[in-house]
Amino acid sequence: MVKTLKDLDIKNKRVIIRCDFNVPYKNGKIIDDTRIIESIDTIKYCIDNNCKIILLSHKGRIKEEKDLKENTLKPVAKRLTKLLHRTVRFSHVTRGEELENMVSKLKNKQVLLIENTRYEDLNGKKESSNDKKLAKYWSKFGDVFINDAFGTMHRSHASNVGIANNLPSCVGLLVEKELNKLEELKNPERPFVLILGGKKVSDKIPMIENLIDKVDYILLGGGMANTFLSAESFNLGKSLIDEESIDFCKKMLKKYADKIVLPVDLKVNNKIDNNGKIEIKDITDFDEDDIALDIGSKTVKIYEDILKTSKIVFWNGPLGIYEYSNFIQGTKEILNYLVDNDIKTILGGGDVVAAASILKLKDKVYHASTGGGATLEFLEGKTLEGLKAIK
Ligand code: ADP
Ligand code: MG
Repeated sequence: MVKTLKDLDIKNKRVIIRCDFNVPYKNGKIIDDTRIIESIDTIKYCIDNNCKIILLSHKGRIKEEKDLKENTLKPVAKRLTKLLHRTVRFSHVTRGEELENMVSKLKNKQVLLIENTRYEDLNGKKESSNDKKLAKYWSKFGDVFINDAFGTMHRSHASNVGIANNLPSCVGLLVEKELNKLEELKNPERPFVLILGGKKVSDKIPMIENLIDKVDYILLGGGMANTFLSAESFNLGKSLIDEESIDFCKKMLKKYADKIVLPVDLKVNNKIDNNGKIEIKDITDFDEDDIALDIGSKTVKIYEDILKTSKIVFWNGPLGIYEYSNFIQGTKEILNYLVDNDIKTILGGGDVVAAASILKLKDKVYHASTGGGATLEFLEGKTLEGLKAIK
């Protein structure tokens, strides 16, 4: 097992916490602070242990000078100050004398957030390529390291893997929670149902291959379903189909015919838009111009019938183009069904969690994972880079 806060003595120490403050901004303002809220437990735990606390996080991608300003973590420091009811100090730089002074003046129970670690990417990708010197430099600020950034756990960066290689380390409370919930899918209660939607099959092949023997059913939606239907020779008009994955789908349908469940009807339009001639069509009735944008009502019923007896559900990828209110319907009905019937549901994937958030159902499911890529890699059966460094 990976080391957790119980395994590390942090009392009165200088702790570096790698958080995931990669939150969305609009016009320089935070529009969703879920990730900041999720980080609070670990920070409070360190305050209660009389630590000096240094926070690190990346935000966005930094490729050129102009990316700097729009990805500053300054608004995060402000939001943290509100949430923690104490001043969170902020260093505008990621290295240098000014930062070193702030670190050395820090008192017990005080919190300092350092500017976006990816500011170092402008300087030869030092953060993202896990530059050893940079990791050593940051490591000197702490006695112990806590990795609580599940969203980047699959990456090998200086601020997560690099620092873990230099200091006694463990995972934080958020990562511990993520791992405990996702572990349940390794030896799942049965029936275990996988709901798979989203855009492309090819991105998800390793996950499907890793889970197929454990699941009782896979319910398909979105572009994912289109590709499987196309592999079954249904004509889906102008719907999104992932041509390169057709052979994979054919093989899966042959081998796991009893597990894979496909839509029988789909909601279509002749353009990707909320307006137009929107109707529900059986999969046998598509015209040349039809584009499938959601699952239909007969399909919803069939899926609910299968979900009725399930003990645990993992769901990746929305069942329709949820960005449009007319095509979030299928996702909404299935999610409501799971919540209303208290079916243990784990959501994993940036978009399916975003859809749940729009529907105000995110806090009602058993677990909504904060990791997109990290969650997928975990379910592909890989050991995440950040965890390797801690073990
Ligand atoms: P997740 O982030 O949950 O892993 P993906 O990134 O695989 O999910 O897919 C999400 C995207 O899939 C969304 O942008 C959504 O609009 C798109 N999508 C869903 N259904 C369809 C469809 N029928 N046709 C095209 N795109 C779709
Ligand atoms: Mg996505």
